Amino acid sequence: MKYTHAEVPTKKRIALVAHDNKKQELIEWACAHPLLKNHTLFATGSTGTLLERALDYPIEKFLSGPLGGDQQIGANIATGGIDVLIFFWDPFEPMPHDPDVKALLRIASVWNVPVACNVTTANYLISSPLINESYSREIPDYQNYMSGRV
Ligand code: PGA
Repeated sequence: MKYTHAEVPTKKRIALVAHDNKKQELIEWACAHPLLKNHTLFATGSTGTLLERALDYPIEKFLSGPLGGDQQIGANIATGGIDVLIFFWDPFEPMPHDPDVKALLRIASVWNVPVACNVTTANYLISSPLINESYSREIPDYQNYMSGRV
């Protein structure tokens, strides 16, 4: 795979997702970080509705995770519309949409998007100076990839 670079803006597009047993943890984390307001927030349906209530500012909501919301976030990562993924998935419960969970984590890795799956990583991420700076992110070189295929 050849790589190129994409410019990540100062104002990040942050996707937030939490499984049911992790929703409270994510809400508390988001409430503890008011600087999230400086960024554009996206979330899966139920997570977004609960976050909006707790934070009192708008969040762009995708479908609920089991109905396709994880895949919508994945598609946005692949097309360059999401810069950061905060995904508190539940390590103790099997989910009906486990394949989507795996796909989302995979596509975030493919496109070199930072992912936090727990509070500690989310704290490290949000306190990084890079969260408020532009950043040159290495990504797969799609043109080059396609030119080798067709
Ligand atoms: P939800 O989806 O925010 O709609 O609950 C989260 C998920 O399970 O992926």
